[in-house]
Amino acid sequence: MNDNNDIQDIRATICIVGAGPAGTYTALSLAKQGVPSLLIDKAVFPRDKACGESLTSGVMRCLQRIDPTLLQDPAFTKARQVVNGVRLYAYNGKNFFLPYRSEANIALGIDSSIGIRRLDLDNILLDVAKKQPLIQVLEGVHIQSVERVGDGLKLSSKDGGHQIMTDLVVVANGYNSRLVKQLTQWDWADETDACGLTAFYRDVEGLSDSEMAECFLMDELKTGAMYVMPVGKGVVNVNIAIRNDIRKRYDINLRETLAEVLGTHPVLKKRFANAKPLGKPMGSGYHLGTRKRPVSGDNYLLVGDAGGFNDALTANGIAHAMESADIAVRHILKNWEARQFTAEALRQFDKEVYRKFRQKRQLGFLSTPMMTHPKLFRWFANVSFGFSGGSETLGKLMYAKNVWRVLASPSFHFSLLKMVGEKVVIGFKTKFGKVADAGA
Ligand SMILES: Cc1cc2nc3c(=O)[nH]c(=O)nc-3n(C[C@H](O)[C@H](O)[C@H](O)COP(=O)(O)OP(=O)(O)OC[C@H]3O[C@@H](n4cnc5c(N)ncnc54)[C@H](O)[C@@H]3O)c2cc1C
Repeated sequence: MNDNNDIQDIRATICIVGAGPAGTYTALSLAKQGVPSLLIDKAVFPRDKACGESLTSGVMRCLQRIDPTLLQDPAFTKARQVVNGVRLYAYNGKNFFLPYRSEANIALGIDSSIGIRRLDLDNILLDVAKKQPLIQVLEGVHIQSVERVGDGLKLSSKDGGHQIMTDLVVVANGYNSRLVKQLTQWDWADETDACGLTAFYRDVEGLSDSEMAECFLMDELKTGAMYVMPVGKGVVNVNIAIRNDIRKRYDINLRETLAEVLGTHPVLKKRFANAKPLGKPMGSGYHLGTRKRPVSGDNYLLVGDAGGFNDALTANGIAHAMESADIAVRHILKNWEARQFTAEALRQFDKEVYRKFRQKRQLGFLSTPMMTHPKLFRWFANVSFGFSGGSETLGKLMYAKNVWRVLASPSFHFSLLKMVGEKVVIGFKTKFGKVADAGA
């Protein structure tokens, strides 16, 4: 509790809770359109956040849009590592390289993908916000409760030191938000989610200063994956992501698994033989983003992880955080003149945001049977990673604008059949060969 009974009463037409990518991006986009906001975070920056720290091409374009000088700023260029693709390893060690190459980004003259510590990225973005006269930033203020007062909302801090009256709260405070529970009827327990663990290392052989990430599927993680990512300044981020239902079903302890596989996996043990850990591993969760929920209502909008938006297959939630913020800003601007932030006035936000993420939601939904059946997933990965056209076939599905169109296309099924056929022929040849050898 606040000891000196000094309560700060603040009035802000728009209050954004959470200064991660979703919140800061919302504040910056509003300021660009001349709209003021109050941006609050419980942490004092720089602060860290468990994340794979891989910025996709979409995030790069968002950053370019929000501030065209940002990507060239030395604070940014010194902190980041360009990443030109990922080598994906199946359970049996078969692997292929998936390039990160975005024609749209190349046309804009910006990198297609980078790795950057969240410690740096979120701090750089908040610094840009702090320089904006239309954004008031409050750090170290933990908003604990929200209640309806008249036509607006009252937010109260945990230590009792701050009370904020607002017409619209943009909830951007990340995974498992208590404010979301208070404002909506959501029960997070109903939602399938995933969890992750992030650890940092120096002196990782072949990766500390590399432009390539690596992703490993391994029996210890069932349908989860380990992602190894260079994130600048010689640091490598090791990140495990796994569905919580799978982690619980197989009683997987992520910290123990991390320590074990870095010392035993045939590729990783060489990479990490002389690696030095930096600090302790951090854990966090995220929702898979496969379920639709109301994400707006009287006087509120949910953006980023607080809205449950993520990417079930890749966990790339920063793009969704910024894109949902973009859409939120459009709907705020529509209602700004009239200061009308009723559920009715904001309802179109839900439609637009779910339309935007439709393809990722469909992929997440369609991949569920595979991701919940480790044996099936293992078989599929082992077959497709070893197949010469495997990367193209998987790429077609992962980067499709319309998943159903890909699934309906004969060429996609032809590639799948070829893949399975190749596996059957190899299996047959191996068996036949063994019989022939034995008889010789
Ligand atoms: C293991 C793991 C790996 C991931 N890897 C990637 C990846 O490689 N690439 C990618 O794009 N995404 C990745 N993600 C997802 C990504 O981290 C999130 O989608 C992204 O951080 C969401 O941004 P956000 O702004 O919505 O929330 P957050 O980044 O969580 O920010 C929320 C902010 O709100 C503040 N806050 C929380 N509660 C309060 C409160 N009550 N009052 C005031 N402030 C509050 C927090 O301090 C924080 O600063 C990963 C996630 C996990 C868990």
